[in-house]
Amino acid sequence: MFYYRKDGETTMRILKDPKQYVALEKENLISRIQKLRWTPKLAIIQVGENEASNRYVRNKVKDCEEVGIAADVYNYPENTTEFELDDELTHLQEYYDGVIVQLPLPQHIRPSIATAAINPEKDVDGFRHDSWYNPATPQGIINYLKWCGFEFEGRHAVVIGRSEIVGKPMARMLLEENMTVTVCHSRTAQDDMGILLTTADLVVCAVGKPEFLDCYRTTAPVIDVGINFNENGKLVGDCYNTEGRDVTPVPGGVGLLTRVALLENVVMAAETKEEKENATK
Ligand code: NAP
Repeated sequence: MFYYRKDGETTMRILKDPKQYVALEKENLISRIQKLRWTPKLAIIQVGENEASNRYVRNKVKDCEEVGIAADVYNYPENTTEFELDDELTHLQEYYDGVIVQLPLPQHIRPSIATAAINPEKDVDGFRHDSWYNPATPQGIINYLKWCGFEFEGRHAVVIGRSEIVGKPMARMLLEENMTVTVCHSRTAQDDMGILLTTADLVVCAVGKPEFLDCYRTTAPVIDVGINFNENGKLVGDCYNTEGRDVTPVPGGVGLLTRVALLENVVMAAETKEEKENATK
């Protein structure tokens, strides 16, 4: 399949349907789970009430049910202290293969304190620096690009955004695939970003601003990580002028890749536990 470049040339489309990838990946996870001696278990921790978080948690539980992971949701009241949360996490994690804390947390709880209580081998969100897993969003993007047949080695990736859970791990993981990586952020000069976009072989945009990136500024495939709501309340990504371009959709793109990558981390955690138990027999 081809898409049109701004200069009228046509280029081969690289990005395939994320939904197709996710469906295949879920089948793969189901067969991995069937080989395990027990059902993988995930604990999802939520503190306080947040409409968006409730929706994310519901989706995670549904995803788990679909592939055969047992998910338990723990709801704690808004006024839970850091100490109480740390204590709860310390105790409950022994019953689970993976534990995640749904963000955002109430302002008085530092996310770093919450994740510090989770053992690195159970931190399936990959938020700790010493976690055994990569954060789900960049991991999902890498897995998907591999499935699309994208060639990483020696090519130039531009990552826009440098957050701890998306931009930075994304850049690190693309480096591990032997790409040359440039990271742009809020202090990057607009002119520099414009030049970098013209030389990119891959663009990952994780800024969180609607209509941030004009896809006509690059001929490279674009991974749109952004989740925003426009003035009409419609869910949109960071990109515009996406029509006929090689760009992941929002919705139906990176959100799905992230969700399936979390499931994969939970299955890896269960497999690792089983391997360890087999080794000590
Ligand atoms: P974040 O922590 O707010 O980071 C945003 C990044 O964008 C920062 O590094 C910031 O630079 C950079 N930025 C802001 N304005 C910019 C500009 N004018 N030019 C260049 N860079 C600019 O957000 P995040 O957690 O990385 O998430 C980014 C977006 O992805 C959000 O919309 C979020 O909802 C979405 N997201 C989606 C998924 C999914 O599953 N689809 C998962 C995670 C996140 P500075 O560091 O200089 O401030």
